[in-house]
Amino acid sequence: AQQFIWPIVRLGDVVDDYERAKAAGGRVERVLSRSPTIRDGDDASPLSVDSGAVTYDHVDFAYDDRSVLHDVDFSITGGQTIGVVGPTGAGKSTLLKLLPRLYDADAGAVRIDGQDVRDVTLRSLRRAIGYVGQDPFLFYGTVRENVRYGTFDASDAAVEEAVRRAQAHEFVENLPDGYDTLVGERGVRLSGGQRQRLALARTILKDPAIIVLDEATSAVDTETEALIQSSLAEFAADRTTFVIAHRLSTVRRADRILVVDDGRLVEDGTHEALLREDGLYANFWRVQTGDVAALPREFLERALE
Ligand code: ATP
Repeated sequence: AQQFIWPIVRLGDVVDDYERAKAAGGRVERVLSRSPTIRDGDDASPLSVDSGAVTYDHVDFAYDDRSVLHDVDFSITGGQTIGVVGPTGAGKSTLLKLLPRLYDADAGAVRIDGQDVRDVTLRSLRRAIGYVGQDPFLFYGTVRENVRYGTFDASDAAVEEAVRRAQAHEFVENLPDGYDTLVGERGVRLSGGQRQRLALARTILKDPAIIVLDEATSAVDTETEALIQSSLAEFAADRTTFVIAHRLSTVRRADRILVVDDGRLVEDGTHEALLREDGLYANFWRVQTGDVAALPREFLERALE
């Protein structure tokens, strides 16, 4: 029994939003079944974060026999904000799940400041990375406890500051008991966008060197998203930030945008450069700005497949 329980306890120990979301979705078996391979190596040492540079070195990845990433190869300068876009199912989430080692690459390597993620302790790796997903998990407890999760020594003022930065202060104040309102299962029901904002606040409070926002603002309206972006800009300024988004306006101002299509990195550049390149990104931009008349026929045919 001890051995079976261990991974769960361990999970609670190094837990991050993603794992909790998974557990909440009843998919704990998968996390557990993968966990035997995702563990500290014998010589694991703590990750030493310098600028937060990230390198994917010819990475391949498959879920069992389903090949998802093919020879993905890129390097990110520490401190940059990187947009990651591409069609549904292209492999964007999978790509970034390799960073905190939710999965390991089958070939190639993922490195942070030159250190292979498989050579560092999971605890230090996940401490360094803040992951906010699309459907964040809130446990049954107060708003304050939920935001403080993982940063238990944070003061009430620090919690509130993080909540403000995530554009959540106003709605929290309007809950029946404000910051003491019970949320999560059996608690007050929050909308997807509200849960996303509390998860963002949790990550802001955690203060990680690297941030991964995986459709983290997909459920908030564009106006609130713009507010979140402007308050996150300062927070994200000196840390490596990955932003996966369907809404291209979310990543438009990124230092660099990676376009993933069918598990391959197909375009890479700033918004302006990608528009000039007039490829997949430019066509998505046309779709999202309503300039459909200008879409090339091949793109339309593919979209209608
Ligand atoms: P979306 O934009 O829809 O979120 P994505 O670009 O993030 O998609 P992924 O979620 O990385 O794409 O999925 C890439 C491929 O891998 C898809 O074909 C998906 O069905 C598959 N996939 C994702 N997660 C798993 C899993 N746990 N097991 C098996 N296949 C998976």
